[in-house]
Amino acid sequence: MGSLQLTSIRKAFGTHEVLKGIDLDVKDGEFVIFVGPSGCGKSTLLRVIAGLEDATSGSVRIDGAEVINTPPAKRGIAMVFQSYALYPHLTVKDNMGLGLKQAGEEKSVIEARVAKASGMLSLDPYLARRPAELSGGQRQRVAIGRAIVREPKLFLFDEPLSNLDAALRVQTRLEIAALHRRLKATMIYVTHDQVEAMTLADKIVVLNAGAIEQIGSPMELYNRPANLFVAGFIGSPQ
Ligand code: ADP
Ligand code: MG
Repeated sequence: MGSLQLTSIRKAFGTHEVLKGIDLDVKDGEFVIFVGPSGCGKSTLLRVIAGLEDATSGSVRIDGAEVINTPPAKRGIAMVFQSYALYPHLTVKDNMGLGLKQAGEEKSVIEARVAKASGMLSLDPYLARRPAELSGGQRQRVAIGRAIVREPKLFLFDEPLSNLDAALRVQTRLEIAALHRRLKATMIYVTHDQVEAMTLADKIVVLNAGAIEQIGSPMELYNRPANLFVAGFIGSPQ
């Protein structure tokens, strides 16, 4: 289970309105991509969904329940950032298990979930290493593993591949697609990479200046863009 409904989400920083009334329906298990120019509010919207940022107004429902006043840790959401945000002094294993430990999970549960995620992400040989001893791609896999062990209803990815080189981007993108098929979890993924958007998405949400220009499948947006902005963003090579 992991459906999401956003209704009239607004967010202002002082007098600067960054989100201008976002309505969105995400079905359980869908892979939804947010695209749009830098500064259009993509990260802010993810942070509002995660509860890391309070909306000025509007409603966030997960599986039908209002979560606008629910703290981030209780929303059943895990977020993966562009910067991996790993703890340098902890091993891969402990980085992956830390969130569960803080949530008071039993050691046996933590061990089992870390082992399962590590297997899925081919991280077994690296469990005893520290982040500095890993490549960028491996670090991002650890960050994804840390999200998986929490068994969230909803995964949020904020440009997770943008610090990786081209070959690793392709490989990690395929791994994320495989994870989506395997976990059948709902995933919301921000990118400015057209190939990522077109290949991963069930549904693409095109944002511009804090508002949604169009929502549709990759083919719908490609073949029937609602306006020149969408056509420019989806249709033409970047
Ligand atoms: P995107 O992820 O699409 O590049 P962001 O959501 O990061 O865009 O930012 C949208 C706008 O909100 C930008 O103009 C940014 O400067 C502003 N913004 C984001 N976070 C804050 C903040 N904490 N305080 C003030 N302004 C912010
Ligand atoms: Mg951003």
